[in-house]
Amino acid sequence: MLPAIQTAENWQECLSDLITDPRELADFLQLDQRLDPAGEQALAQFPLKVPRAFAERMEKGNWRDPLLRQVWPSFVEERTAPGFVADPLRERHYNPRPGLLHKYRGRVLLIAAPHCAIHCRYCFRREFDYRENTPARRDWREALDYIRADASIEEVILSGGDPLALGDRQLRWLLESIARISHVTTLRIHTRLPVVIPERVTGGLLEMLSSCRQRVVVVVHCNHAQEIDRRVAVALGALGRGGAVLLNQSVLLQGVNDGAAILSELSKRLFAENVLPYYLHLPDRVAGTHHFHVTLDAAEAIVGELQASLPGYLVPRLVREDPGAPAKTRLV
Ligand SMILES: *Cc1c(COP(=O)(O)O)cnc(C)c1O
Ligand code: SF4
Repeated sequence: MLPAIQTAENWQECLSDLITDPRELADFLQLDQRLDPAGEQALAQFPLKVPRAFAERMEKGNWRDPLLRQVWPSFVEERTAPGFVADPLRERHYNPRPGLLHKYRGRVLLIAAPHCAIHCRYCFRREFDYRENTPARRDWREALDYIRADASIEEVILSGGDPLALGDRQLRWLLESIARISHVTTLRIHTRLPVVIPERVTGGLLEMLSSCRQRVVVVVHCNHAQEIDRRVAVALGALGRGGAVLLNQSVLLQGVNDGAAILSELSKRLFAENVLPYYLHLPDRVAGTHHFHVTLDAAEAIVGELQASLPGYLVPRLVREDPGAPAKTRLV
């Protein structure tokens, strides 16, 4: 039995007690909302959701705090920008069963949960139709049948939403169902929960992952070293000791992490907790996210600087997603 970090009630309490009112967040951070009013339309389209544990890592009185920038529903989102559309990845074209995306050879992505613990304003799935892709068990059966029927699928990626927003019972059912498909050798979980609500890494979860027949890869999503406090470090350490390969993906975001020194610190901080950098994504051109964009030239310059100052294994791969391409496009 692996040591529990927190009881399950705890993380579920955190998940049901999110900050959803911008006024509450601004008050908590001692910020004057008149300086950067929350956009009503932005909020209606993609509500505010911030775990308290995440808000506690923000600096009081600082509108430019890199964690706050990721979640604050700015009125700037309401402006349109040329080339920014609802579904730039044309994901609907790769959606053969409800809740399943099959874009790349050898691996499929399951929308395991329709919701997240946090709403990141730059999210490329902010306009994805989760209602159409809500995982009722019947739908999962269809998706699982699809995987079973295609022996070329070696890896199943649980994504979302956030798959760890599922309760342990549902997650266990899903993992056991996937474990019975013999050609699937790797289970990958893309999740932001160990970072935003580290209490999610319970003894029960660790046991479930370490008893998995498949090789387990956990790809966390962290954009800035300030997101990693002691509790997050403990959660990541426990996941690593439980046998999962730990990787991180970040999104390169203007005003959040668009500097080599920031990303270098992030890589070192993650490495200290046994996490290696995987991807650094250029954000997708989703409507409402133009203010986060970094030009390709600037992105390449930043990664060039990282290459000049870090060992190769601490430099994330700069990628962009091009619809129809056989993989993510490597830019450096
Ligand atoms: C990004 C993505 C993957 C995983 O790609 P890797 O390069 O293996 O990390 C798989 N399926 C879909 C639909 C994706 O968007
Ligand atoms: S956790 Fe991931 S899927 Fe959820 S809102 Fe943030 S970026 Fe989007």
